[in-house]
Amino acid sequence: MQYCPRCHVYIRGHKTCCPLCRNPLIEKETPPDMDPAPAFPVPEKHRVSGVSLTRILTFLMLLCEILMVFFALQNREAGVSAHWPYVCGFLCFFAWVDFLIARYFRSNLIFLVTFEAYLGMALCLAADHLTVPYRGWAVAWCVPFGMIALEAATVLLGWSEGLHMVDYAVYLFVDTILGLLQLIPIQRHTNPQPLPALISLAVLLAYLAFILVFRGRDLRNAITKFLNF
Ligand SMILES: [Zn+2]
Repeated sequence: MQYCPRCHVYIRGHKTCCPLCRNPLIEKETPPDMDPAPAFPVPEKHRVSGVSLTRILTFLMLLCEILMVFFALQNREAGVSAHWPYVCGFLCFFAWVDFLIARYFRSNLIFLVTFEAYLGMALCLAADHLTVPYRGWAVAWCVPFGMIALEAATVLLGWSEGLHMVDYAVYLFVDTILGLLQLIPIQRHTNPQPLPALISLAVLLAYLAFILVFRGRDLRNAITKFLNF
């Protein structure tokens, strides 16, 4: 252990000189009643910090955009009509924005999962509407199962994080209300396979009925809290 012969003190850690008198230190045997560990915990250095990860992803996103502009220009020069560089460029930018949002809201896991689930469902709906011919797979399968999975994930996350129902009842309530929108494609006959949507609606409404009957006060408090906020 390091020792200052002038101040007669033992120094923990590894110093170049005595922190009190700046005298060079000598190596001396550690006394049996002394802990040679540093006096304060030394924080571990993260290999990739959050800031540098953001920078790496920003750089990759810009690189992708440059490449896609290059391919788009090349296609135009060659007289080829292709949409993929635009789609790739858009998706890359979208993923980058999504990463930034996820990073910002990482402390609120239920909000983040809800946001990502709606984003995923919106992307499916957009992809389904943009592809020709329209098949309706998003309204028939993605949204119904997405809603059930989201509801289950919200309950599981609330339970695993030890939250009280007041803290997440609003999410379940909003999910059920938005889940009712599945009736619109059924009504307009744009949902080719209405059964999953109807099952999903039944599950959402059954759970809402459960909350209303058994946890009505929690839901009321949650909505009041949400509106005051
Ligand atoms: Zn000293």
